[in-house]
Amino acid sequence: MRRAVVLGGSIAGLLAARVLSGHAEEVLVVERDDIAASGAFGGARDPRPGVPQGTQMHALLEAGRRLLDNWFPGFTAELVAGGATSADTGRGVHSYLEGRRRVLVGGVEMVSATRPFLEAHLRRRVLALDNVRLVNGRVCGLRYAGGRVDGVRYARPDADADADPGSGSAPGSGAEDVLDSDLTVDATGRASRLGTWLREGGWPEPALRRMHVDLGYATALFRRPEGGHDAMLAQSLTTLPDGRLRLSTLGRVEGDRWIALTAGYADDRPGRGTEEFLLRCKQDPAAAFRRLAEDAEPIGEPVGYRHPDNRRRDFHLLDRFPAGLVAAGDSLASFNPVYGQGMSSAAMHAACLAAYLDTRPSPRDPAWPYFKRTRRVVDDAWQTSALNDLKLPHVTGPRPPGFTLASRLGDLVVRASVTDPVVHRRFLDVMHMLAPARTLMRPGTLLRAAAAVRRQGA
Ligand SMILES: Cc1cc2nc3c(=O)[nH]c(=O)nc-3n(C[C@H](O)[C@H](O)[C@H](O)COP(=O)(O)OP(=O)(O)OC[C@H]3O[C@@H](n4cnc5c(N)ncnc54)[C@H](O)[C@@H]3O)c2cc1C
Repeated sequence: MRRAVVLGGSIAGLLAARVLSGHAEEVLVVERDDIAASGAFGGARDPRPGVPQGTQMHALLEAGRRLLDNWFPGFTAELVAGGATSADTGRGVHSYLEGRRRVLVGGVEMVSATRPFLEAHLRRRVLALDNVRLVNGRVCGLRYAGGRVDGVRYARPDADADADPGSGSAPGSGAEDVLDSDLTVDATGRASRLGTWLREGGWPEPALRRMHVDLGYATALFRRPEGGHDAMLAQSLTTLPDGRLRLSTLGRVEGDRWIALTAGYADDRPGRGTEEFLLRCKQDPAAAFRRLAEDAEPIGEPVGYRHPDNRRRDFHLLDRFPAGLVAAGDSLASFNPVYGQGMSSAAMHAACLAAYLDTRPSPRDPAWPYFKRTRRVVDDAWQTSALNDLKLPHVTGPRPPGFTLASRLGDLVVRASVTDPVVHRRFLDVMHMLAPARTLMRPGTLLRAAAAVRRQGA
């Protein structure tokens, strides 16, 4: 390919750019935020408007971490050198269910850093690639020719600036420019307008599937006295009397700070203010959160975030689609964030793109093989998230066939993972996206889980 254009310069876009750099002479990443504006890391380390969830706690699961280390050797070590935490589940990650700490099992690593810090490091590594370049502008549509996408329409922040190299229009000729593109990757996130852009070109829109979960997050930063904290990362899941789940998470991040989050559904969504935040920490049955409320000093006010729904766009169900176009990251599917699957999913979509491009596909054919691969990734993450979300009393169906049995067996495995190290490890493999969710339904795992739960009862 002569040129590939990536729409959106966040995690999914940057990872797609990394993969494309091995297949195209030039890769342009079009991002509406001016992220190259300042700083040694190619942009500020503060949350930015285009990624509003950047204010919230983000942890990187093992599947994503391994892929990042593969594409950018030493990436985890670099984050840690900058002050982030990478903790092994056998030592530094404590997971609580209803206040009981799960038995520790090692071999899975989890990274805790603020989201802007992680993204800034990734951006620096991607933009260090010779043939990848950032273009500041807002994508407003696609150009079609002969059954394919052959260009990207975008508005530059300053329409009168000099013409962008490779752009189709002259300096100062208006607000919109066009970038020629042999392959376009939509990575503009969960609010992607790709459906509208397809419709404008006379193509069908993918169906948007939504599951309303009405989740509320609040994230706060803290300073803590040195010593006395036995976990670098802690998570606690509690069931409220009416069946709703409440999640608390805590992690050490760069700048000698701790980041903590409290999340709840519907009218249990966290409100504003430090006082309420600390109260929720004190109410948590896991000691790690009570200790945080006692010994830590808040830095600023907590920041809230609302996640109304999980959503996915089923491109694989379309009967027509233009060649030269794919979608990745949240634009394909955005899950309940409590499972932390988003960045690892984006990395797995990039791996699907790499595998697809390695087959040397014809530029005249739609990328169905890519969507077939990503469908498996999306289905699996969706199953983990949706199966649990559908158990929530306020989440309405439709519940898939076999839901009641699957959900009971799932509960059995989750309960067993508190005390049985083998079941816990298999559970971790699924939660960290290293193994498909169905592996937990294997007879061997279920029998072992049943025995472990019987022993707990005894
Ligand atoms: C509250 C919350 C907590 C989360 N916690 C975790 C976690 O712990 N672990 C985890 O792995 N994931 C987590 N996620 C998910 C994670 O944030 C995303 O999955 C991840 O950022 C990948 O997103 P993306 O790159 O596809 O889209 P985004 O990060 O949303 O980025 C989209 C990019 O496209 C740009 N853009 C949009 N429109 C245009 C346009 N028209 N023109 C040009 N640029 C455009 C935006 O400015 C932005 O840079 C969480 C999400 C939420 C909401």
